[in-house]
Amino acid sequence: MKPEYDVIITGGGLAGLTLSIQLKLNKPDIKILVLERRKDVAPTSAHKVGESTVELGSHYLRETLGLKDYLEAHELPKYGLRFFFKSNTKEDITSRVELGPRKWLYTPSHQLDRGTLENHLAENTIARGTTVLLNAAAKDVEFGEEYHTVTYTQGGEEKTATARWVADASGRGSLLKRKLGFQKPMEHHTNAVWWRLKGVIDIDHWSEDQTWKNIPVTGLRYLSTVHFMDKGYWVWVIPLGSKNTSIGIVADPAIHPFETFDTYEKSIEWLKVNEPLCYKMLEPETKNKMDFKILKHYAHHTGRLYDGKDRWGVTGEAGAFLDPFYSPGTDFISMNNTWLSDLILRELNGEDVSFRAEIYEQTHLALVDSWIPIYKDKYTLMGNTQIMVAKILWDWAIYWAVPSLLFTNKAFTDLRLLKQLFAAPDSLGRRFGKLHEQVQQLFLDWGPHDNQVFERRYIDPVDLSYMLEFQGGIPNQHGDKLVERISQNMEMLEKIAAEIFRRVSHEVKGTPMDMKVDPYTMVLDAENKLNLPEVSDDKAVPRDERIINDVATMWFYAEKEPVA
Ligand SMILES: Cc1cc2nc3c(=O)[nH]c(=O)nc-3n(C[C@H](O)[C@H](O)[C@H](O)COP(=O)(O)OP(=O)(O)OC[C@H]3O[C@@H](n4cnc5c(N)ncnc54)[C@H](O)[C@@H]3O)c2cc1C
Repeated sequence: MKPEYDVIITGGGLAGLTLSIQLKLNKPDIKILVLERRKDVAPTSAHKVGESTVELGSHYLRETLGLKDYLEAHELPKYGLRFFFKSNTKEDITSRVELGPRKWLYTPSHQLDRGTLENHLAENTIARGTTVLLNAAAKDVEFGEEYHTVTYTQGGEEKTATARWVADASGRGSLLKRKLGFQKPMEHHTNAVWWRLKGVIDIDHWSEDQTWKNIPVTGLRYLSTVHFMDKGYWVWVIPLGSKNTSIGIVADPAIHPFETFDTYEKSIEWLKVNEPLCYKMLEPETKNKMDFKILKHYAHHTGRLYDGKDRWGVTGEAGAFLDPFYSPGTDFISMNNTWLSDLILRELNGEDVSFRAEIYEQTHLALVDSWIPIYKDKYTLMGNTQIMVAKILWDWAIYWAVPSLLFTNKAFTDLRLLKQLFAAPDSLGRRFGKLHEQVQQLFLDWGPHDNQVFERRYIDPVDLSYMLEFQGGIPNQHGDKLVERISQNMEMLEKIAAEIFRRVSHEVKGTPMDMKVDPYTMVLDAENKLNLPEVSDDKAVPRDERIINDVATMWFYAEKEPVA
């Protein structure tokens, strides 16, 4: 018997709906059923989190799915992530070190109202012939040799539908993960609460200081994803296209127990203690509160993602989710859907995709695992301005220089490239993971030695020439020169890592600024003041005038005399 559909997607949120559009764009006659539990169209503003996008996810929405015109007409442009660090007088916003763009960034991104976006995505895919059923909750999947049977309820009635493939996009419902038992522990634990306020909150109005107001182009602060940070937490302020505002608190329970902010009233009291200016500006807006949501231990992992033999896959939060600090949710959905749609389309075309699915799954899981050190234990550093400035710029640099470029150059579905990049122990991809791990460990080791509070400074990521090059280079197409470009970017990242290490070691141990550094073995042995690490000439990364100047730009510590 022929199944009714080629694909049933369980869950019509961001991941499920974008997957359906991606499939339709590549195979217009594909038959798709989307089952969505929600009873009605999504509400504006007070719908879901996932409102801020960054470069990779924006490229997916704009270019891969062709949503550029919609996004430009109905959602807001976004001008970067913007961070305000701790100061001794947090109630004066101008006293805080600020990290964020002064001008429009070259590669675009957007702030999304998830309600309006999901309604648009549903209309878009329905117009292409997808069947989207609301009030339809998937209950079970029975896997068959030729096709699978999905049982769902609609309006209290139990129904079934058949399809060759099942894609689980049920978010935290995680239908397939629970059914097939591939839950996996995640060693990063943080909690979040958020609420939406009716009306615009523009932090440019949080001070009368005209000099401060004039630092970035007018309107840029409003269109950024704003983070207010100190030890153990960050608070977000995100503008929405519906002219409303999203506010959230994300915190490490070891420093800010969840019980201290897990209701709206407690959140407001928590702001009073930790972010007095946010309290002053947001407490009077209580009358405009549209919703309030909480999520304890939001990070979760997965043991599986794609099965080419049994024809199923998971996408979005039904798989893994790490941390919203850099707004990466849509990025992971973009990669996830790109892998999953490629498998589905090839298999429907008669290809055996078992091996390909294994490679995609390994690559995807390795990517999630390599991202964990970005967040794990790092909330303890959020009150350390110098460390966080270096860390945020490093995290952006690696994100722009490698995964974003691989995505825009369609490398993730190119098996030959994946083999070249990741197969050998000394391959570029493996070195990337190792380098990143070393630098994340350096930030942790540096923590106990950093106790300076800095004030009244502004740093734009693109003040650093390599950051401008990496961000501006994301959309560039490199064709068969992609590996060469990734290799050049890796060389730069190695030099940046080594230069950051030299500066940290110089500050903490007084080591000479021209010391030899191998970024793959560097360790900040702060107890052993004069014990310089042994580095052979062939492993030492050469110093580079441009990187020296760029790293100096992000350095706030006063220069120290080296130990003789
Ligand atoms: C605190 C926090 C902040 C975040 N901020 C950002 C951000 O700024 N930027 C960003 O990109 N990402 C962010 N994210 C991540 C983002 O929210 C997710 O990546 C995204 O919403 C996941 O989309 P999804 O479609 O997988 O899941 P969802 O959006 O949850 O969609 C799942 C859908 O499945 C439906 N469903 C569930 N079970 C069933 C069932 N059995 N049958 C049928 N339908 C079902 C649900 O009704 C829902 O509509 C954040 C996450 C958290 C926790």
